[in-house]
Amino acid sequence: MIVYELACAQGHRFEGWFASSEAFAEQKERDLVRCPVCDVAAVERLPSARVSVPKGGAVVEPAPAVPAQPAASEAISGVPPEVLAKLREIVRNTENVGRRFPEEARKIHYEEVPPRAIRGQASSEEANALREEGIDFASLPSVLTSESH
Ligand SMILES: [Zn+2]
Repeated sequence: MIVYELACAQGHRFEGWFASSEAFAEQKERDLVRCPVCDVAAVERLPSARVSVPKGGAVVEPAPAVPAQPAASEAISGVPPEVLAKLREIVRNTENVGRRFPEEARKIHYEEVPPRAIRGQASSEEANALREEGIDFASLPSVLTSESH
Protein backbone atom coordinates (compact mmCIF):
# COMPACT_ATOMS: atom_id res chain seq x y z
CA MET A 1 0.00 0.00 0.00
CA ILE A 2 1.09 3.53 -0.76
CA VAL A 3 -0.34 6.63 0.84
CA TYR A 4 -0.20 9.87 -1.12
CA GLU A 5 -0.91 13.31 0.18
CA LEU A 6 -3.28 14.84 -2.35
CA ALA A 7 -4.88 18.22 -2.96
CA CYS A 8 -7.82 19.12 -5.16
CA ALA A 9 -8.16 22.24 -7.30
CA GLN A 10 -10.04 23.89 -4.39
CA GLY A 11 -7.10 23.33 -2.09
CA HIS A 12 -8.62 20.57 0.06
CA ARG A 13 -5.87 18.29 1.28
CA PHE A 14 -6.45 14.61 1.91
CA GLU A 15 -4.72 11.28 1.86
CA GLY A 16 -5.33 8.58 -0.70
CA TRP A 17 -4.33 4.95 -0.37
CA PHE A 18 -3.32 3.01 -3.43
CA ALA A 19 -2.01 -0.47 -4.15
CA SER A 20 0.93 1.02 -6.06
CA SER A 21 2.03 4.16 -7.86
CA GLU A 22 0.78 2.54 -11.10
CA ALA A 23 -2.66 2.04 -9.51
CA PHE A 24 -2.71 5.72 -8.54
CA ALA A 25 -1.76 6.79 -12.08
CA GLU A 26 -4.43 4.56 -13.58
CA GLN A 27 -7.18 5.70 -11.19
CA LYS A 28 -6.24 9.32 -11.73
CA GLU A 29 -6.29 8.79 -15.51
CA ARG A 30 -9.86 7.48 -15.22
CA ASP A 31 -10.93 10.36 -12.89
CA LEU A 32 -11.48 7.87 -10.07
CA VAL A 33 -9.36 9.84 -7.62
CA ARG A 34 -11.74 12.41 -6.21
CA CYS A 35 -11.67 14.98 -3.45
CA PRO A 36 -13.68 13.65 -0.47
CA VAL A 37 -14.84 17.20 0.30
CA CYS A 38 -15.99 18.60 -3.05
CA ASP A 39 -15.86 15.46 -5.24
CA VAL A 40 -13.83 16.99 -8.05
CA ALA A 41 -11.45 14.74 -9.95
CA ALA A 42 -8.91 17.52 -10.44
CA VAL A 43 -6.54 16.12 -7.87
CA GLU A 44 -2.78 16.47 -7.70
CA ARG A 45 -0.16 14.77 -5.59
CA LEU A 46 1.51 17.25 -3.28
CA PRO A 47 5.26 17.52 -3.87
CA SER A 48 5.79 17.00 -0.14
CA ALA A 49 3.94 13.69 -0.26
CA ARG A 50 5.55 10.88 1.62
CA VAL A 51 5.45 7.63 -0.25
CA SER A 52 5.14 4.65 2.00
CA VAL A 53 5.95 1.10 1.05
CA PRO A 54 5.63 -1.13 4.10
CA LYS A 55 7.42 -4.41 3.55
CA GLY A 56 7.17 -5.82 7.03
CA GLY A 57 10.03 -3.52 7.91
CA ALA A 58 10.03 -0.27 9.74
CA VAL A 59 7.11 2.06 10.12
CA VAL A 60 7.34 5.63 11.32
CA GLU A 61 4.90 8.03 12.86
CA PRO A 62 5.27 11.77 12.46
CA ALA A 63 7.19 13.32 15.34
CA PRO A 64 5.02 15.08 17.92
CA ALA A 65 6.62 18.37 16.86
CA VAL A 66 4.90 18.10 13.48
CA PRO A 67 1.84 20.38 13.51
CA ALA A 68 -1.49 18.61 13.63
CA GLN A 69 -2.91 17.99 10.18
CA PRO A 70 -6.17 19.64 9.15
CA ALA A 71 -9.27 17.58 9.86
CA ALA A 72 -9.86 17.05 6.14
CA SER A 73 -6.83 14.78 5.99
CA GLU A 74 -8.57 12.38 8.36
CA ALA A 75 -10.63 11.32 5.38
CA ILE A 76 -8.95 8.47 3.57
CA SER A 77 -10.48 8.31 0.16
CA GLY A 78 -11.45 4.97 -1.24
CA VAL A 79 -10.37 2.80 1.67
CA PRO A 80 -13.06 0.41 2.91
CA PRO A 81 -13.47 0.19 6.71
CA GLU A 82 -12.30 -3.44 6.77
CA VAL A 83 -9.06 -2.47 5.04
CA LEU A 84 -8.55 0.35 7.54
CA ALA A 85 -9.19 -2.08 10.39
CA LYS A 86 -6.60 -4.47 8.94
CA LEU A 87 -4.07 -1.65 8.60
CA ARG A 88 -4.72 -0.62 12.20
CA GLU A 89 -4.12 -4.20 13.27
CA ILE A 90 -0.82 -4.30 11.38
CA VAL A 91 0.22 -1.06 13.07
CA ARG A 92 -0.81 -2.40 16.50
CA ASN A 93 1.33 -5.50 15.98
CA THR A 94 4.50 -3.51 15.41
CA GLU A 95 6.82 -2.83 18.31
CA ASN A 96 6.63 0.79 19.45
CA VAL A 97 10.21 2.00 19.88
CA GLY A 98 9.23 5.66 20.22
CA ARG A 99 12.06 8.14 19.75
CA ARG A 100 14.57 5.31 19.25
CA PHE A 101 13.02 4.72 15.84
CA PRO A 102 15.91 6.05 13.68
CA GLU A 103 18.45 4.03 15.70
CA GLU A 104 16.37 0.83 15.63
CA ALA A 105 15.52 1.23 11.92
CA ARG A 106 19.25 1.48 11.13
CA LYS A 107 20.08 -1.61 13.19
CA ILE A 108 17.44 -3.57 11.29
CA HIS A 109 18.57 -2.17 7.93
CA TYR A 110 22.21 -3.05 8.57
CA GLU A 111 21.18 -6.46 9.94
CA GLU A 112 22.67 -5.84 13.36
CA VAL A 113 19.46 -7.21 14.85
CA PRO A 114 16.90 -9.70 13.49
CA PRO A 115 14.32 -8.04 11.23
CA ARG A 116 11.07 -7.08 12.91
CA ALA A 117 8.29 -4.59 12.34
CA ILE A 118 8.70 -1.46 14.40
CA ARG A 119 7.00 1.88 14.65
CA GLY A 120 8.13 5.04 16.31
CA GLN A 121 8.80 8.67 15.82
CA ALA A 122 11.30 10.56 13.74
CA SER A 123 11.69 14.20 12.89
CA SER A 124 11.54 15.09 9.21
CA GLU A 125 15.34 15.54 9.23
CA GLU A 126 15.79 12.08 10.70
CA ALA A 127 13.29 10.62 8.24
CA ASN A 128 15.15 12.22 5.32
CA ALA A 129 18.48 10.90 6.59
CA LEU A 130 17.04 7.39 6.84
CA ARG A 131 15.68 7.59 3.29
CA GLU A 132 19.05 8.77 2.00
CA GLU A 133 20.56 5.65 3.52
CA GLY A 134 18.02 3.60 1.60
CA ILE A 135 16.05 2.59 4.67
CA ASP A 136 12.48 1.78 3.75
CA PHE A 137 9.65 2.83 6.06
CA ALA A 138 6.16 4.22 5.94
CA SER A 139 4.73 7.47 7.22
CA LEU A 140 1.41 6.71 8.77
CA PRO A 141 -1.65 8.92 8.67
CA SER A 142 -2.79 9.89 12.13
CA VAL A 143 -6.02 7.89 11.77
CA LEU A 144 -3.96 4.73 11.99
CA THR A 145 -1.67 5.69 14.81
CA SER A 146 -4.00 7.54 17.13
CA GLU A 147 -4.84 5.39 20.13
CA SER A 148 -8.53 5.09 20.89
CA HIS A 149 -9.32 6.51 24.29
ZN1 LIG B 1 -11.95 19.55 -2.77
